[in-house]
Amino acid sequence: MKTLAIETSCDETSIAVIEDGRKILSNIISTQIETHKKFGGVVPEIASRMHVEVISQILKNALEDANIGLNDIDFISVTEGPGLVGALLVGMSFAKALSYSLDIPLIGVNHIKGHICANYISHKNLEPPFIALVISGGHTYLVDVTGYDEYKVIGRTRDDAVGEAFDKVARALGLPYPGGPMIDKLSKVGNPEAINFPRVYLEVNSYDFSFSGLKTAILNYLNQMKQKNETITIEDVAASFQMAVIDVLSEKTFRLLNETKRNKLAIAGGVAANSGIRDIFTKKALEKGIELFIPDMNLCTDNAAMIGSAGYYSYISGKKSTLGLKVDANLSL
Ligand code: ATP
Ligand code: MG
Ligand code: FE
Repeated sequence: MKTLAIETSCDETSIAVIEDGRKILSNIISTQIETHKKFGGVVPEIASRMHVEVISQILKNALEDANIGLNDIDFISVTEGPGLVGALLVGMSFAKALSYSLDIPLIGVNHIKGHICANYISHKNLEPPFIALVISGGHTYLVDVTGYDEYKVIGRTRDDAVGEAFDKVARALGLPYPGGPMIDKLSKVGNPEAINFPRVYLEVNSYDFSFSGLKTAILNYLNQMKQKNETITIEDVAASFQMAVIDVLSEKTFRLLNETKRNKLAIAGGVAANSGIRDIFTKKALEKGIELFIPDMNLCTDNAAMIGSAGYYSYISGKKSTLGLKVDANLSL
């Protein structure tokens, strides 16, 4: 069964053809990063316009790459939220037009479920139940994935998302948008023990997160150093920040695995591309006998393939959207 998947929730226009939820026949991703870089972050109105400009060509490329025609598609999967409302609307309108004209079903997909499902594409043997740690640009969740279309949220951030913290700290260090990959790179040469930034664990037993205090601690540190006219080693700041994030993420994730007795962990979202997180989670999982799944690098950040995977599992579990489907910028998991 083939789905044509459409993703336009933020600043990537992506269309993919996915077979049976796990196999990529094509996955075209057009990123707007270079345009938004000038503004230090995504400008919603520009994002919407750019999606409109390229989406038809992306569809052509996706079909060509998969070597199929529109009549070979069984149903359409499209991101319904969360994301930027104008950006989501472009993909949604395009998806509805295709569904209507081809007379095939339309499936609305939650973008965050998509991030989790990227693991099904990279790891053909992964099956629920498992624990998922979602660390993306706008969201942070600990989830018990009990079935292919069943998600139980156990913890979430109370303020900044992990990716947001990376991007804000990078900005304070004068690094270009998106900051996450830059912090990752600098951390490889910096000393993670140079500065002891706070680890916020919240209440004992809590699986929620809070990263705004850490961000503020870094801003304060940078201001104090500037006032004292002392040199700031940005590699050390980056590495110490990254380690503080990893300590909190890993403590809560492995505690949850222990408490639920689950033996599989999947990491998802753009920050799953972080090499420090990949290394430390790989080591800890090995120590504790947990099987670890992380998507291939190009499937960590936004792409339509993951939307096609989540769409497939919704579809076979009986879900079907109507042409009245609305986008929801704040759709929750
Ligand atoms: P959401 O999925 O929550 O709606 P989004 O789609 O904008 O948000 P993603 O595509 O999942 O976010 O990921 C983008 C985020 O990942 C950015 O915050 C970026 O800085 C971060 N990121 C990407 N690569 C790395 C890396 N190597 N290390 C740390 N962060 C990274
Ligand atoms: Mg993006
Ligand atoms: Fe995303």
